[in-house]
Amino acid sequence: MSVKLNKKTIEDIEVRGKRVLVRVDFNVPQDKSGQITDDRRIRAALPTIQYLMKHGAKTILVSHLGRPKGKPEDYEKYTLKPVAERLSELLGTTVELAPDCIGPQAEAAVYALEEGEIVLLENVRLHPEEEKNDLDFAEKLASLAQLYVNDAFGTAHRAHASTEGVTKFVPGVAGYLMQKEIEYLGGALEDPKRPFVAILGGVKVKDKIGVIESLLGKVDRLLIGGAMAYTFLKAQGKEIGNSILDADSLDFCKNVLASAGDKILLPTDVVVADRNPMEPGVDLDSVQTRTVSVDAIPAGYQGVDIGPETAKRFAEAVKGAGTVVWNGPMGIFEIDRFAVGTRAMAQALADSGAVTIVGGGDSAAAVEELGFADRMTHISTGGGASLEFLEGKELPGVVALQDK
Ligand code: ADP
Ligand code: MG
Repeated sequence: MSVKLNKKTIEDIEVRGKRVLVRVDFNVPQDKSGQITDDRRIRAALPTIQYLMKHGAKTILVSHLGRPKGKPEDYEKYTLKPVAERLSELLGTTVELAPDCIGPQAEAAVYALEEGEIVLLENVRLHPEEEKNDLDFAEKLASLAQLYVNDAFGTAHRAHASTEGVTKFVPGVAGYLMQKEIEYLGGALEDPKRPFVAILGGVKVKDKIGVIESLLGKVDRLLIGGAMAYTFLKAQGKEIGNSILDADSLDFCKNVLASAGDKILLPTDVVVADRNPMEPGVDLDSVQTRTVSVDAIPAGYQGVDIGPETAKRFAEAVKGAGTVVWNGPMGIFEIDRFAVGTRAMAQALADSGAVTIVGGGDSAAAVEELGFADRMTHISTGGGASLEFLEGKELPGVVALQDK
């Protein structure tokens, strides 16, 4: 199972001596003091950065961070300074941060670069023109460089100035991370080793209708857990107590069950809690839980995890699989007591021998936190982007790159 990206990559083009603008996704989580709490996204971009530096490019990195609101204090709050520091540590060389991504200060920093040197431009979203894909802004950004590389898979589903607009003014190719993401995700969808099993969970059916529709046409089995499962159970006429119900999607679930019911595996038992454990101020130790059949969810209780019998059935389905795609946790994994089902699935994937691909922000975080990251074939760095990819949509940041 493999597909080749039909776009040019950094290896297809001479980079030596060129000013190369690289769109990376350094949108890292930070704590209140600005400390980076997870630097996965920075580490994921290192292969491309190191290749460019080694091959004598003048590397200009551009990224967004958070969602600046266009206020003067944004420059302090949304600065990429902590990222420049962490990147310097990871590369073992000082990476300067240019105070702006366009204009005289950016130009000065860029024209000072020697071959093999690198600079990071300040947060591109400090300019509202970025998200509007403003052409003048894109042209200014592009004018800094002779070549553009998109390695920001996580924002490839957005047509912004730094992901799409720039390619109207400077030729664009893919970086290694972009290539890897597309080849793994695309390989699973286009040429999966069978049986092909997908596992979906998370909160709302509505967010994943496109993914369900797209996957149903491709997979041999679709396992549904998480909060999403309760809307399907309700569609089957079951009582779901206070479990999360996505009422707008009930008809969709009924239709899916009627047309593809034999492909779909739903929970047969679940863990329910006597109150909402996510409610602020709830004393978690006092939350009472029970494991019940899906035919006996008590009134007033809400589903928080799949039950042990379900975890076993789901694990069985994964066991013989050739390819497994997983999106969405099986329960409220943020609370350790309710991470049992999610952990069981991570274990099942790890033990399966299948090609295992995890997409979705929370799913990737769950697999990391539970300690299974090294045992998956591929964990996508793009939450929204991986979902849109699984829906079969074309990503504007990829479409804009040069064909092979
Ligand atoms: P992803 O980011 O991987 O696409 P989602 O954002 O759709 O996943 O869903 C993740 C969230 O789903 C987690 O915060 C988790 O707590 C929640 N969740 C899973 N199962 C339940 C449940 N039974 N009740 C409430 N929330 C749930
Ligand atoms: Mg999420």
